[in-house]
Amino acid sequence: MNDLSMASNTETKAFDVESIRRDFPILAQQINGKPLVYLDNGASAQKPVSVLDAMDRYYREMHSNVHRGAHTLGDRATAAFEGARETVRSFINAPSTREIIWTRGTTEAINLVANGLAPRLKEGDEILVSHMEHHANIVPWQMVAERTGAKVVPVQVTPEGELDLDSFSNLMNDRTRILAITHASNVLGTINPVADLIRQAKQQGVLTVIDGAQAVPHFKPDVQALDCDFYAFSSHKMFGPTGIGVLYGRAELLEQMPPYQGGGEMIERVSFERTTWNELPYKFEAGTPAIAEAVGLAAAIDYLNSFDHTALEAAEQALLTRANQLLETVPGMDIIGTAKNKVPVISFKIAGLHPSDIGTLLDQQGIAIRTGHHCAMPLMDFYGVPGTARASFAFYNTLEEVEKLFTGLQKIQRLFT
Ligand code: PMP
Repeated sequence: MNDLSMASNTETKAFDVESIRRDFPILAQQINGKPLVYLDNGASAQKPVSVLDAMDRYYREMHSNVHRGAHTLGDRATAAFEGARETVRSFINAPSTREIIWTRGTTEAINLVANGLAPRLKEGDEILVSHMEHHANIVPWQMVAERTGAKVVPVQVTPEGELDLDSFSNLMNDRTRILAITHASNVLGTINPVADLIRQAKQQGVLTVIDGAQAVPHFKPDVQALDCDFYAFSSHKMFGPTGIGVLYGRAELLEQMPPYQGGGEMIERVSFERTTWNELPYKFEAGTPAIAEAVGLAAAIDYLNSFDHTALEAAEQALLTRANQLLETVPGMDIIGTAKNKVPVISFKIAGLHPSDIGTLLDQQGIAIRTGHHCAMPLMDFYGVPGTARASFAFYNTLEEVEKLFTGLQKIQRLFT
Protein backbone atom coordinates (compact mmCIF):
# COMPACT_ATOMS: atom_id res chain seq x y z
CA MET A 1 0.00 0.00 0.00
CA ASN A 2 2.65 2.47 0.96
CA ASP A 3 6.07 2.37 -0.62
CA LEU A 4 7.60 4.31 2.26
CA SER A 5 6.83 1.74 4.93
CA MET A 6 9.93 0.75 6.84
CA ALA A 7 11.06 -2.85 6.78
CA SER A 8 9.03 -4.80 9.29
CA ASN A 9 10.40 -5.70 12.68
CA THR A 10 12.34 -8.94 12.76
CA GLU A 11 10.67 -10.35 15.87
CA THR A 12 7.04 -9.93 14.98
CA LYS A 13 3.92 -11.76 16.15
CA ALA A 14 1.64 -13.49 13.69
CA PHE A 15 -1.47 -11.54 12.81
CA ASP A 16 -4.38 -13.02 14.74
CA VAL A 17 -7.27 -10.59 15.11
CA GLU A 18 -8.97 -12.45 17.95
CA SER A 19 -5.85 -12.41 20.08
CA ILE A 20 -5.23 -8.76 19.11
CA ARG A 21 -8.73 -7.87 20.31
CA ARG A 22 -7.95 -9.34 23.71
CA ASP A 23 -5.21 -6.70 24.01
CA PHE A 24 -7.89 -3.96 23.89
CA PRO A 25 -10.10 -4.38 26.99
CA ILE A 26 -12.56 -1.65 25.96
CA LEU A 27 -13.65 -3.65 22.90
CA ALA A 28 -15.11 -6.49 24.97
CA GLN A 29 -18.18 -4.64 26.15
CA GLN A 30 -21.82 -4.24 25.26
CA ILE A 31 -23.21 -0.91 24.14
CA ASN A 32 -27.00 -0.57 24.17
CA GLY A 33 -27.23 -4.31 24.77
CA LYS A 34 -25.11 -5.19 21.72
CA PRO A 35 -21.41 -6.04 21.40
CA LEU A 36 -19.49 -2.85 20.72
CA VAL A 37 -18.44 -2.39 17.08
CA TYR A 38 -15.96 0.47 17.23
CA LEU A 39 -15.61 2.11 13.82
CA ASP A 40 -14.59 5.61 14.92
CA ASN A 41 -10.86 5.01 14.92
CA GLY A 42 -10.18 8.05 12.74
CA ALA A 43 -11.39 10.26 15.59
CA SER A 44 -9.46 8.36 18.26
CA ALA A 45 -8.23 4.79 18.47
CA GLN A 46 -8.48 2.46 21.49
CA LYS A 47 -5.51 1.58 23.72
CA PRO A 48 -3.89 -1.82 24.21
CA VAL A 49 -3.33 -3.06 27.73
CA SER A 50 0.44 -2.59 27.29
CA VAL A 51 -0.13 1.17 26.98
CA LEU A 52 -2.39 1.24 30.05
CA ASP A 53 0.16 -0.82 32.00
CA ALA A 54 3.12 1.32 30.95
CA MET A 55 1.39 4.48 32.16
CA ASP A 56 0.22 2.81 35.37
CA ARG A 57 3.71 1.51 36.07
CA TYR A 58 5.22 4.90 35.34
CA TYR A 59 2.98 6.55 37.95
CA ARG A 60 3.45 3.74 40.47
CA GLU A 61 7.20 3.39 40.17
CA MET A 62 8.94 6.34 38.58
CA HIS A 63 6.94 9.54 38.54
CA SER A 64 8.75 12.75 39.25
CA ASN A 65 9.45 15.84 37.20
CA VAL A 66 11.97 15.39 34.40
CA HIS A 67 15.33 17.02 33.75
CA ARG A 68 15.81 18.07 37.39
CA GLY A 69 18.44 15.45 38.12
CA ALA A 70 18.59 15.79 41.92
CA HIS A 71 17.26 12.34 42.84
CA THR A 72 16.68 8.79 41.64
CA LEU A 73 13.00 9.15 40.72
CA GLY A 74 13.82 12.22 38.68
CA ASP A 75 16.46 10.20 36.84
CA ARG A 76 14.01 7.34 36.24
CA ALA A 77 11.32 9.67 34.92
CA THR A 78 13.81 11.44 32.68
CA ALA A 79 15.15 8.15 31.32
CA ALA A 80 11.62 6.93 30.53
CA PHE A 81 10.67 10.27 28.97
CA GLU A 82 13.80 10.62 26.83
CA GLY A 83 13.63 6.92 25.98
CA ALA A 84 10.15 7.57 24.59
CA ARG A 85 11.57 10.34 22.41
CA GLU A 86 14.08 7.86 20.99
CA THR A 87 11.25 5.36 20.30
CA VAL A 88 9.42 8.04 18.31
CA ARG A 89 12.60 9.03 16.47
CA SER A 90 13.16 5.47 15.41
CA PHE A 91 9.48 4.99 14.40
CA ILE A 92 9.64 7.83 11.86
CA ASN A 93 13.34 7.33 11.08
CA ALA A 94 14.29 10.88 12.02
CA PRO A 95 18.04 11.54 12.08
CA SER A 96 18.12 12.87 15.65
CA THR A 97 16.05 13.13 18.86
CA ARG A 98 16.85 16.88 18.75
CA GLU A 99 14.29 16.98 15.94
CA ILE A 100 11.47 15.34 17.93
CA ILE A 101 9.38 17.97 19.71
CA TRP A 102 6.61 16.90 22.09
CA THR A 103 3.36 18.77 21.57
CA ARG A 104 -0.22 18.25 22.73
CA GLY A 105 -1.10 16.77 19.36
CA THR A 106 -1.17 17.45 15.63
CA THR A 107 -3.07 20.70 16.15
CA GLU A 108 -0.47 22.17 18.47
CA ALA A 109 2.35 20.86 16.26
CA ILE A 110 0.99 22.70 13.21
CA ASN A 111 0.36 25.86 15.23
CA LEU A 112 3.96 25.67 16.43
CA VAL A 113 5.33 25.40 12.88
CA ALA A 114 3.01 28.10 11.53
CA ASN A 115 4.13 30.51 14.24
CA GLY A 116 7.76 29.52 13.84
CA LEU A 117 7.71 30.14 10.09
CA ALA A 118 5.76 33.42 10.35
CA PRO A 119 8.91 35.59 10.46
CA ARG A 120 9.81 34.23 7.00
CA LEU A 121 6.49 35.33 5.47
CA LYS A 122 5.65 38.68 3.93
CA GLU A 123 2.87 40.35 1.94
CA GLY A 124 2.04 38.41 -1.21
CA ASP A 125 3.70 35.13 -0.16
CA GLU A 126 1.59 32.02 -0.61
CA ILE A 127 0.97 29.02 1.62
CA LEU A 128 -0.30 26.07 -0.38
CA VAL A 129 -2.70 23.74 1.43
CA SER A 130 -5.29 21.41 -0.08
CA HIS A 131 -9.05 21.38 -0.19
CA MET A 132 -9.08 18.14 1.81
CA GLU A 133 -7.25 19.50 4.87
CA HIS A 134 -8.51 19.16 8.42
CA HIS A 135 -9.15 22.58 10.01
CA ALA A 136 -5.95 21.99 12.03
CA ASN A 137 -3.98 22.40 8.80
CA ILE A 138 -5.97 25.39 7.54
CA VAL A 139 -6.77 27.72 10.42
CA PRO A 140 -3.24 28.10 11.90
CA TRP A 141 -2.05 29.14 8.41
CA GLN A 142 -4.93 31.57 8.03
CA MET A 143 -4.03 33.14 11.38
CA VAL A 144 -0.39 33.52 10.34
CA ALA A 145 -1.44 34.82 6.91
CA GLU A 146 -3.54 37.47 8.59
CA ARG A 147 -0.54 38.66 10.60
CA THR A 148 1.96 38.63 7.76
CA GLY A 149 -0.02 39.54 4.63
CA ALA A 150 0.59 36.08 3.14
CA LYS A 151 -2.23 34.17 1.45
CA VAL A 152 -3.54 30.62 1.97
CA VAL A 153 -4.19 28.96 -1.40
CA PRO A 154 -6.04 25.61 -1.64
CA VAL A 155 -5.08 22.92 -4.16
CA GLN A 156 -8.20 21.40 -5.70
CA VAL A 157 -9.47 17.87 -5.16
CA THR A 158 -10.96 15.68 -7.92
CA PRO A 159 -14.56 14.41 -7.57
CA GLU A 160 -13.10 10.98 -6.65
CA GLY A 161 -11.29 12.61 -3.75
CA GLU A 162 -7.75 12.57 -5.07
CA LEU A 163 -5.49 15.59 -5.02
CA ASP A 164 -5.73 17.36 -8.39
CA LEU A 165 -2.11 17.25 -9.53
CA ASP A 166 -2.71 19.76 -12.35
CA SER A 167 -4.11 22.21 -9.83
CA PHE A 168 -1.04 21.58 -7.67
CA SER A 169 1.38 22.27 -10.55
CA ASN A 170 -0.56 25.36 -11.62
CA LEU A 171 -0.69 26.84 -8.13
CA MET A 172 2.96 26.21 -7.26
CA ASN A 173 4.74 29.39 -8.29
CA ASP A 174 7.54 31.73 -7.25
CA ARG A 175 5.37 33.26 -4.51
CA THR A 176 4.83 29.84 -2.85
CA ARG A 177 6.77 29.60 0.41
CA ILE A 178 5.15 26.69 2.26
CA LEU A 179 3.33 23.52 1.24
CA ALA A 180 1.20 22.22 4.14
CA ILE A 181 -0.59 19.04 3.20
CA THR A 182 -2.11 15.96 4.76
CA HIS A 183 -0.52 12.56 4.25
CA ALA A 184 -3.94 10.88 4.51
CA SER A 185 -7.38 12.51 4.55
CA ASN A 186 -9.53 11.98 7.64
CA VAL A 187 -12.70 12.22 5.50
CA LEU A 188 -11.81 10.59 2.19
CA GLY A 189 -9.10 8.21 3.32
CA THR A 190 -7.01 9.34 0.36
CA ILE A 191 -3.28 8.81 0.76
CA ASN A 192 -1.62 11.73 -0.98
CA PRO A 193 1.55 11.20 -3.03
CA VAL A 194 3.45 13.35 -0.56
CA ALA A 195 6.93 12.15 -1.59
CA ASP A 196 6.34 13.46 -5.14
CA LEU A 197 4.80 16.70 -3.91
CA ILE A 198 7.71 17.28 -1.52
CA ARG A 199 10.20 16.66 -4.35
CA GLN A 200 8.50 19.26 -6.52
CA ALA A 201 8.27 21.72 -3.63
CA LYS A 202 11.99 21.27 -2.83
CA GLN A 203 12.94 22.09 -6.41
CA GLN A 204 11.37 25.52 -5.87
CA GLY A 205 12.74 26.06 -2.36
CA VAL A 206 9.28 25.63 -0.80
CA LEU A 207 9.15 24.38 2.81
CA THR A 208 7.01 21.30 3.42
CA VAL A 209 4.77 20.51 6.40
CA ILE A 210 3.03 17.12 6.43
CA ASP A 211 -0.02 16.40 8.60
CA GLY A 212 0.48 12.75 9.47
CA ALA A 213 -2.44 12.43 11.92
CA GLN A 214 -4.30 9.86 9.81
CA ALA A 215 -1.22 8.18 8.35
CA VAL A 216 0.68 6.97 11.44
CA PRO A 217 -2.09 4.65 12.71
CA HIS A 218 -1.82 2.75 9.42
CA PHE A 219 1.77 2.90 8.22
CA LYS A 220 5.19 4.10 9.29
CA PRO A 221 6.30 7.30 7.65
CA ASP A 222 10.02 7.61 6.97
CA VAL A 223 10.77 11.32 7.25
CA GLN A 224 14.19 10.93 5.65
CA ALA A 225 12.81 9.06 2.63
CA LEU A 226 9.98 11.58 2.36
CA ASP A 227 12.52 14.42 2.74
CA CYS A 228 9.88 16.65 4.38
CA ASP A 229 10.82 19.62 6.56
CA PHE A 230 8.12 19.01 9.19
CA TYR A 231 5.87 16.06 10.06
CA ALA A 232 3.09 16.27 12.69
CA PHE A 233 1.00 13.57 14.36
CA SER A 234 -1.08 12.72 17.44
CA SER A 235 -0.59 9.84 19.86
CA HIS A 236 -4.28 9.17 20.50
CA LYS A 237 -5.01 8.15 16.91
CA MET A 238 -2.16 5.61 16.95
CA PHE A 239 -3.30 3.66 20.02
CA GLY A 240 -1.46 5.90 22.51
CA PRO A 241 -2.89 8.25 25.14
CA THR A 242 -4.52 11.63 24.53
CA GLY A 243 -2.71 14.85 25.40
CA ILE A 244 0.51 14.23 23.50
CA GLY A 245 1.70 14.44 19.92
CA VAL A 246 4.85 14.98 17.96
CA LEU A 247 6.38 17.52 15.67
CA TYR A 248 9.35 16.33 13.67
CA GLY A 249 11.30 19.25 12.24
CA ARG A 250 14.57 19.53 10.37
CA ALA A 251 17.15 20.72 12.91
CA GLU A 252 18.47 23.65 10.89
CA LEU A 253 14.94 25.04 10.51
CA LEU A 254 14.03 24.47 14.16
CA GLU A 255 17.24 26.28 15.13
CA GLN A 256 16.14 29.33 13.16
CA MET A 257 12.56 29.36 14.50
CA PRO A 258 11.62 31.46 17.53
CA PRO A 259 10.24 29.55 20.56
CA TYR A 260 6.51 28.93 20.58
CA GLN A 261 5.85 29.46 24.28
CA GLY A 262 7.97 30.92 27.06
CA GLY A 263 8.52 29.54 30.55
CA GLY A 264 10.52 26.87 32.34
CA GLU A 265 12.55 24.23 30.46
CA MET A 266 12.82 26.21 27.23
CA ILE A 267 15.47 28.66 28.47
CA GLU A 268 19.22 28.48 28.85
CA ARG A 269 19.55 31.56 31.07
CA VAL A 270 17.03 34.14 32.23
CA SER A 271 17.75 37.64 33.40
CA PHE A 272 15.82 40.87 33.18
CA GLU A 273 18.40 42.12 30.71
CA ARG A 274 18.53 39.14 28.37
CA THR A 275 17.06 35.63 28.20
CA THR A 276 18.54 32.93 25.99
CA TRP A 277 16.92 29.76 24.68
CA ASN A 278 17.67 26.16 25.53
CA GLU A 279 19.02 23.79 22.88
CA LEU A 280 16.79 21.59 20.71
CA PRO A 281 14.34 20.06 21.34
CA TYR A 282 13.76 21.76 24.71
CA LYS A 283 13.54 25.26 23.20
CA PHE A 284 10.03 24.29 22.07
CA GLU A 285 8.95 22.50 25.25
CA ALA A 286 8.02 25.15 27.81
CA GLY A 287 6.70 23.89 31.14
CA THR A 288 6.37 20.42 32.62
CA PRO A 289 5.72 18.04 29.74
CA ALA A 290 3.21 15.18 29.42
CA ILE A 291 5.59 12.58 30.86
CA ALA A 292 3.26 9.61 31.45
CA GLU A 293 1.73 10.25 28.03
CA ALA A 294 5.14 10.11 26.35
CA VAL A 295 5.72 6.77 28.07
CA GLY A 296 2.29 5.61 26.88
CA LEU A 297 2.97 6.67 23.30
CA ALA A 298 6.27 4.78 23.31
CA ALA A 299 4.41 1.68 24.55
CA ALA A 300 1.90 2.11 21.69
CA ILE A 301 4.75 2.27 19.18
CA ASP A 302 6.38 -0.80 20.75
CA TYR A 303 3.03 -2.55 20.44
CA LEU A 304 2.72 -1.61 16.76
CA ASN A 305 6.32 -2.68 16.17
CA SER A 306 5.56 -6.11 17.63
CA PHE A 307 3.55 -6.94 14.49
CA ASP A 308 4.54 -7.39 10.92
CA HIS A 309 3.38 -4.04 9.55
CA THR A 310 2.71 -5.52 6.12
CA ALA A 311 0.25 -7.97 7.68
CA LEU A 312 -1.50 -5.16 9.59
CA GLU A 313 -1.83 -3.07 6.45
CA ALA A 314 -3.14 -6.07 4.48
CA ALA A 315 -5.76 -6.81 7.17
CA GLU A 316 -6.92 -3.19 7.15
CA GLN A 317 -7.12 -3.13 3.36
CA ALA A 318 -9.21 -6.32 3.46
CA LEU A 319 -11.65 -4.54 5.79
CA LEU A 320 -11.79 -1.55 3.45
CA THR A 321 -12.35 -3.71 0.36
CA ARG A 322 -15.13 -5.71 2.02
CA ALA A 323 -16.79 -2.57 3.40
CA ASN A 324 -16.75 -0.98 -0.06
CA GLN A 325 -18.24 -4.12 -1.65
CA LEU A 326 -21.07 -4.32 0.87
CA LEU A 327 -21.88 -0.64 1.33
CA GLU A 328 -22.09 -0.04 -2.40
CA THR A 329 -25.11 -2.37 -2.49
CA VAL A 330 -27.13 -0.34 0.06
CA PRO A 331 -29.87 1.52 -1.89
CA GLY A 332 -29.25 5.28 -2.08
CA MET A 333 -25.62 4.87 -0.97
CA ASP A 334 -23.09 7.48 -2.07
CA ILE A 335 -19.50 6.78 -1.00
CA ILE A 336 -17.52 10.01 -0.88
CA GLY A 337 -13.86 9.42 -1.65
CA THR A 338 -12.95 6.59 -3.97
CA ALA A 339 -9.24 7.24 -4.42
CA LYS A 340 -7.10 4.30 -5.49
CA ASN A 341 -4.77 4.60 -2.51
CA LYS A 342 -6.67 4.87 0.76
CA VAL A 343 -6.35 4.29 4.48
CA PRO A 344 -9.37 2.31 5.78
CA VAL A 345 -11.84 5.19 6.04
CA ILE A 346 -15.22 5.34 4.29
CA SER A 347 -17.34 8.50 4.23
CA PHE A 348 -20.83 8.13 2.88
CA LYS A 349 -24.31 9.51 2.64
CA ILE A 350 -27.57 7.69 2.04
CA ALA A 351 -30.35 9.38 0.08
CA GLY A 352 -33.19 10.47 2.34
CA LEU A 353 -31.25 10.01 5.57
CA HIS A 354 -29.46 12.63 7.65
CA PRO A 355 -25.94 11.54 8.66
CA SER A 356 -26.58 12.24 12.33
CA ASP A 357 -29.67 9.96 12.24
CA ILE A 358 -27.51 7.22 10.72
CA GLY A 359 -25.05 7.67 13.59
CA THR A 360 -27.72 7.56 16.29
CA LEU A 361 -29.49 4.55 14.83
CA LEU A 362 -26.24 2.61 14.41
CA ASP A 363 -25.31 3.45 18.00
CA GLN A 364 -28.53 1.78 19.12
CA GLN A 365 -27.11 -1.36 17.49
CA GLY A 366 -23.79 -0.95 19.32
CA ILE A 367 -22.01 0.41 16.25
CA ALA A 368 -19.91 3.56 16.74
CA ILE A 369 -19.24 5.69 13.67
CA ARG A 370 -18.74 9.43 13.32
CA THR A 371 -21.04 11.92 11.63
CA GLY A 372 -20.73 15.60 10.80
CA HIS A 373 -18.26 17.82 8.99
CA HIS A 374 -15.20 16.05 10.43
CA CYS A 375 -13.42 19.42 10.89
CA ALA A 376 -13.19 19.68 7.10
CA MET A 377 -15.83 22.25 6.17
CA PRO A 378 -14.17 23.35 2.90
CA LEU A 379 -14.27 19.72 1.75
CA MET A 380 -17.94 19.42 2.74
CA ASP A 381 -18.62 22.58 0.70
CA PHE A 382 -16.77 21.03 -2.25
CA TYR A 383 -19.07 18.01 -2.14
CA GLY A 384 -22.11 20.18 -1.41
CA VAL A 385 -23.01 18.34 1.80
CA PRO A 386 -23.35 19.60 5.38
CA GLY A 387 -21.73 16.43 6.66
CA THR A 388 -21.18 12.74 6.07
CA ALA A 389 -21.29 9.51 8.03
CA ARG A 390 -17.82 7.99 8.39
CA ALA A 391 -16.69 4.51 9.33
CA SER A 392 -12.97 4.30 10.07
CA PHE A 393 -11.26 1.00 10.74
CA ALA A 394 -8.28 -0.22 12.74
CA PHE A 395 -6.44 -3.53 12.55
CA TYR A 396 -8.47 -4.84 15.51
CA ASN A 397 -11.71 -4.62 13.54
CA THR A 398 -13.07 -7.79 11.97
CA LEU A 399 -14.84 -8.71 8.75
CA GLU A 400 -17.77 -9.72 10.93
CA GLU A 401 -17.97 -6.14 12.21
CA VAL A 402 -18.00 -4.89 8.63
CA GLU A 403 -20.99 -7.18 8.01
CA LYS A 404 -22.70 -5.74 11.11
CA LEU A 405 -22.22 -2.22 9.77
CA PHE A 406 -23.74 -3.35 6.48
CA THR A 407 -26.78 -5.07 8.01
CA GLY A 408 -27.21 -2.12 10.38
CA LEU A 409 -27.33 0.29 7.45
CA GLN A 410 -29.68 -1.95 5.51
CA LYS A 411 -32.04 -2.00 8.46
CA ILE A 412 -31.99 1.80 8.80
CA GLN A 413 -32.42 2.28 5.08
CA ARG A 414 -35.48 -0.01 4.99
CA LEU A 415 -37.08 1.64 8.00
CA PHE A 416 -36.64 5.24 7.00
CA THR A 417 -36.76 5.59 3.23
N1 PMP B 1 -5.27 16.42 11.00
C1 PMP B 1 -6.04 15.38 10.67
C2 PMP B 1 -5.96 14.83 9.28
C3 PMP B 1 -6.89 14.83 11.62
O1 PMP B 1 -7.66 13.80 11.30
C4 PMP B 1 -6.91 15.38 12.93
C5 PMP B 1 -7.83 14.82 14.00
N2 PMP B 1 -9.12 14.56 13.58
C6 PMP B 1 -6.08 16.45 13.21
C7 PMP B 1 -5.27 16.94 12.23
C8 PMP B 1 -6.05 17.07 14.56
O2 PMP B 1 -5.53 16.18 15.50
P1 PMP B 1 -5.61 16.48 17.05
O3 PMP B 1 -7.05 16.83 17.34
O4 PMP B 1 -5.19 15.21 17.69
O5 PMP B 1 -4.70 17.63 17.33
